[in-house]
Amino acid sequence: MLLEVEAVRKSYRRRGGAEVLAVRDVSLQLSAGRILAFLGPNGAGKTTTIKMIAGLVKMDAGDVRIAGHSLRTAGASARRQLGAVLEGSRNLYWRLTPVENIEYWAGIRGVPRREARERGLELLRLCGLEEKAHQTVQQLSRGMQQLVAICAALVHRPNLLLLDEPTLGLDLDAADRIQQLVEQLARVNGVGILLTTHQMEVAQRLSDEVVLIREGAVILHGPTDVVRERLSGDAYVFELAGNLSAEQRAYLAKRDAEFDGSLAFRVVLSSPGDFYEVIARLQPCPIVRASRDTADLGAVFRHYVHGDGNEGAQP
Ligand code: ATP
Repeated sequence: MLLEVEAVRKSYRRRGGAEVLAVRDVSLQLSAGRILAFLGPNGAGKTTTIKMIAGLVKMDAGDVRIAGHSLRTAGASARRQLGAVLEGSRNLYWRLTPVENIEYWAGIRGVPRREARERGLELLRLCGLEEKAHQTVQQLSRGMQQLVAICAALVHRPNLLLLDEPTLGLDLDAADRIQQLVEQLARVNGVGILLTTHQMEVAQRLSDEVVLIREGAVILHGPTDVVRERLSGDAYVFELAGNLSAEQRAYLAKRDAEFDGSLAFRVVLSSPGDFYEVIARLQPCPIVRASRDTADLGAVFRHYVHGDGNEGAQP
């Protein structure tokens, strides 16, 4: 296991003396080459947890192990295993070029200068930024700056990468580039990636696993496809290649089918036999597709955070 977070806890003291329990005994695990989406509403405790993993916030209780090294007893070895881009691109100096920024971080991480330059250019090539290597960071677009920030965090070849809101405020193309890079790092280079995001479509595209926290505590964790499947129920989507008769529409209306235009509808079925009955009733209208309607991650989030599904489930 690459990352093991074991019951970490953190409270802050607010001005006036009141104590806020920001993170309550949060545990999670991540293997090499996997992407974990760490989700939760504003103030749930994501940033505090990620900062504890990065060693930037001292935990009150619990421990974090990175590649087996405990942050409490072998902090330097644990931190050597990780790279982090937290809260936008604050790890960049705007008046320096991408290469200079990467070399600067290499120096801090103890990477020899020559190796740092080669590694920097290799990382910039990976992101399609080699032509921008010698412009100052302030001249680059926000998406490019974010790519450079990720490159800087990767200069010492960490096994674990922490990304806090990596696509926040980026346009679609830039967000797509970042997501491609994250996928490549995990799938090709075997980096374990823990990311926080409020963008559920990003979490859905990238994540193998999700951990959902609310008020500092984990309320759901499991493989992304399993948590989505679990909420999917028995809804099916049918797509047609022709119009239905009034009688067929009346039949579907009785079944509470929801139409999306005239050629597609979603219907909840209560037994496998129902599926064949609907197919038979649609004859002779050609059916292009009939498939189970899988809940998206946004629906999962809304269900557990705002709905009544927060029973502490582990699928
Ligand atoms: P967001 O999605 O809004 O970034 P988050 O899930 O990252 O939120 P945290 O920033 O970890 O949440 O905050 C968790 C709780 O701890 C919140 O109630 C927040 O107000 C409180 N908190 C965070 N940092 C401090 C601090 N330095 N001092 C006091 N309270 C803090």
